Amino acid sequence: MGDHLGYHDDGVHMSQGFPIARIAGIRIRAHWSVLLICGLLAWGLADGLVPVAVPRTPELLSWTVSVAAALVLLASLTAHEVAHSLVARRLGLPVDGITLWVFGGVSQIRGDLATARTEIAVAVVGPAVTLVLTGVFFGASAALAAAGAPGLVVLAAEWLAGVNLLLLVFNLVPAFPLDGGRILRGILWARRGDRSRATIAAARAGRVFAFLLVALGLVDFFATSDFGGVWLVFIGWFLASMARGEQRGETVRRALEDVRVRDVMSTNPIVVPSWITVRLLLEQYAMRYPYTAFPTHGLDGKVDGLVTLLGMKRVPPRQRGERRASEISIPIEQLPIARPDDLVTDLFSRMSSRGAGRALVFDGEQLVGIVSPSDVGRRLQVGTVQPPAAARRPESPPVA
Ligand SMILES: [Zn+2]
Repeated sequence: MGDHLGYHDDGVHMSQGFPIARIAGIRIRAHWSVLLICGLLAWGLADGLVPVAVPRTPELLSWTVSVAAALVLLASLTAHEVAHSLVARRLGLPVDGITLWVFGGVSQIRGDLATARTEIAVAVVGPAVTLVLTGVFFGASAALAAAGAPGLVVLAAEWLAGVNLLLLVFNLVPAFPLDGGRILRGILWARRGDRSRATIAAARAGRVFAFLLVALGLVDFFATSDFGGVWLVFIGWFLASMARGEQRGETVRRALEDVRVRDVMSTNPIVVPSWITVRLLLEQYAMRYPYTAFPTHGLDGKVDGLVTLLGMKRVPPRQRGERRASEISIPIEQLPIARPDDLVTDLFSRMSSRGAGRALVFDGEQLVGIVSPSDVGRRLQVGTVQPPAAARRPESPPVA
C-alpha cells in the first residue's frame, strides 16, 4: 500500500469520493476503493495470521477483531496524511483535503508555492507520525502481553505495529512520489538551488523503483501465483505514472520559466457588442476571424465578458436569431485577468479552474490581449526548439 502527496492538482483526480470527516478544518474523503483495501487487510489478518497465531479462535470473533484492526490502520494512515496537511497549511501551502483510496492516502497540497525547506518539512512529518504510531503499537502489544490480555488482541496490536513499520520503510525509499523521494528532492533542491533538476532526479529514481516493484511483482506472481505479486505490479505502475507526470509537469514549468504573458498572448482581440444576436456573432465575427473567443463590451464601451465559439454553437440554430451575446457570455468577474508583465506560470495556476480556460490581458484600463491554452501550447513547442538556457538565471537557494 503506497502513500503520497498529491502535490500538483492535475496528477491524479482524487476529488471523487464521499466526505467522511473533518479534522482541524481539513476535509477527509474516502474513495470507494478504500473498502477494497480494508477488506483485503482484514482478510489477510482473519484468514492468514489469526489461525496460525491464535488457533481455535471463533470465526466471528476473529473477523470482528480483524475488521476493527483494519479500521485502526486506516486511522493511522489518516493521521499520517493529516500531519502532512497540517504542516503544509502552517507553512502557507494551500491544502484542498485528504482522500483515502486503494493505495492509502493522498494529501492534496498545492506545491507550486513550496520552497526546498517547506518541501522537506511537509514530507518528513508524515513518516515521523508513522514512526510514533509504530512505537505506540509495539509498546501496546508488549504491555497487553505482559498484562495477560487475550492472544487475539495482542496479535492485532502487533499486526498494527508491523504494518505501520512496513509503511514507514516503504515511504522512506528515496523515490518520487514517496515521502523519501520528496525529501530527496528537497535536499537536492536546497543544495543546488535548482528545483527542476532536483525534481527530475527524484522522479527518475521513482521510475527506477517503480520498475523494480513491477519486476519483483511479476517474478513473485509467476513463482508463487500469489496475489501479493499482482499488488506490487499495480503499486509500481501507479508510482511510475505519478513520477512520469511530475517529470512532465516540471519540463513544462521549466520551459515557461520567466515567460511573460505578453510573450504568449494573442494581441488586438476583436471586441464585440454584447447586445447583438448569436446569429450575427456567428456570421460577422466567428466566420470572419480565426478566433474561438471574443471579448464583449457593453453600451458604455467597457469590456464586460467573453463569448466562445463553443458557447455560440450550443445555442440551437432556431434560437440564434433571438438570443443575445450577453446571454451566453462569461461575465468578466469570472474571468482570470492578467497584466502583460505577469508570469505565465502564475497565470496558469489561476486559469485552470475557471473562465473557459482563457484569460483577458489588460494594460491599465485597456484590453490588450487574450491568453488561451493553444497560445501557451504554441509557446511550449517553440520552447523545445530553442531552449531558453542562455536567458535563465540560477535561482538562489530558497530560505523561507
Ligand atoms: Zn506521506
